[in-house]
Amino acid sequence: MLEQFCARPMATICPMQTTDHTTDVLVVGGGTAGFGAAVAAGRFGLDVCLVESTTRIGGVMASCPGMPWGAAYPGGTIIGGLMGELAERLYSMSPPAAEKRPCSLENFGPEILYDHELATVTMFEMLDEASVELHLGTIAVAPVMDGNTITAVECRDRLGDNTITPRIVIDCSGDGEISTRAGVPYDVGDADGNTMGVSLTFTMVDADWDRVFAGDDPYFTAEATRGITQRRIHEDLAQLYLMKGLHQNTVFCNSVVIPGVDGTDPAEVSRATQEGRRRCNQLAGFLRDEVPGFERSRMTHLGPTVGVRETRRLSGIHRLSGEELARGTKFVDGVVCCDNPIDDVMRSSAAMTHDAIVDGGDYYTIPFRSLVPTSVENLMFAGRIISADPVAFASVRGMPQCMAMGQATGTAAAIAIDKGLAVQNIDHHDLVIALQEQGVRGLGTAPGSRQIC
Ligand SMILES: Cc1cc2nc3c(=O)[nH]c(=O)nc-3n(C[C@H](O)[C@H](O)[C@H](O)COP(=O)(O)OP(=O)(O)OC[C@H]3O[C@@H](n4cnc5c(N)ncnc54)[C@H](O)[C@@H]3O)c2cc1C
Repeated sequence: MLEQFCARPMATICPMQTTDHTTDVLVVGGGTAGFGAAVAAGRFGLDVCLVESTTRIGGVMASCPGMPWGAAYPGGTIIGGLMGELAERLYSMSPPAAEKRPCSLENFGPEILYDHELATVTMFEMLDEASVELHLGTIAVAPVMDGNTITAVECRDRLGDNTITPRIVIDCSGDGEISTRAGVPYDVGDADGNTMGVSLTFTMVDADWDRVFAGDDPYFTAEATRGITQRRIHEDLAQLYLMKGLHQNTVFCNSVVIPGVDGTDPAEVSRATQEGRRRCNQLAGFLRDEVPGFERSRMTHLGPTVGVRETRRLSGIHRLSGEELARGTKFVDGVVCCDNPIDDVMRSSAAMTHDAIVDGGDYYTIPFRSLVPTSVENLMFAGRIISADPVAFASVRGMPQCMAMGQATGTAAAIAIDKGLAVQNIDHHDLVIALQEQGVRGLGTAPGSRQIC
């Protein structure tokens, strides 16, 4: 055995394996948007290939395990669709694996707390049920163009290079590399190019909720000031975002933010993750030593990497603006409703703001045209790479909305393929009706919709 092994010439480098693959729909990125896109397209009977560069499903949801789904209940009613279905599957488990709760922070509507492991298992099940072909550990590298059409996407995994030949590409990568290489223009950050800070999260288990949350300051400002003064925690931690987790006496800590990180640069993300680990560990120690109710607690579920809020925002047929959101605009091609505040996190200063964007009870919708480029005929995008200005982006970026944007593009892919149309030319009325038939609420002008645009 040893001889056989040694007989192989040591210096031989095997050629990379190359495989080719055709599919109806290629979804790039398995975050909440990619999940929504793949399941929706798969349920129409299309061949769907989902490539995800990590070995996890969930994207930011997987980087920040336990992060609540916000903005799922605009105006008090669930947005429906795949988000509604996923929540319902978790609510109906015994014991329930999710719960709707009011958010302790100003201007945020109710949020859904869920068991991260069971939610992930359920998402894998839904992908399986929709017959989605999953390629984890696979990075989509570059599109092959023929004029305004993507004819193939070159991908790479540890076995080598492979080429996927799709009829439609849905970019849900958060960073939009395939789209930008296909020629779609993009913006980064605010007017000065500042993007929101990245964050590393963790959970404290065995805390005593009654004592931890006995005070009335949801930001734990006094404790944070004490920790900074004592040099126990980093000076950026002037407000501590500590929230009850789903399970009794668990506290989700979404406090450690590192500003000024380019989320598309692996070296910067690695450095921020290392720095984030140091700050999370310091914070956990400080909570245990100094904040009543944490004495017997310990840290779990430290994120595997920082969660990246914002990198590129692609340019679509319609660039959604903060003014449109503030007017509560319901677009004729609206695909999901939303009332999330302007949730801005350390773009240019240490400030975190979440000013309300619409009056209480009102909401706006996100138009399909913000998910469609002007020229590439078989490409759509969904999730945090939406075409939006910085203010609108800060509101639309919640996971429920990203999932619903994905669902809309997966549905639009089925319509485009069925009718042989470029994605720019599909009938928006057909799309809205198809989404309403999937239980998506609060859309469009069709009879039975909650509000007429
Ligand atoms: C710290 C933090 C806190 C947040 N808090 C909340 C909250 O409380 N509630 C809420 O609802 N939302 C919250 N958000 C916002 C929300 O999580 C994100 O906007 C949303 O998850 C984005 O989803 P996405 O699918 O568009 O992108 P992502 O989740 O970023 O997923 C993109 C996926 O694409 C993959 N990918 C990238 N490039 C490639 C490629 N070339 N080939 C293959 N795969 C690729 C990535 O690995 C990733 O898995 C928060 C975000 C952060 C970062």
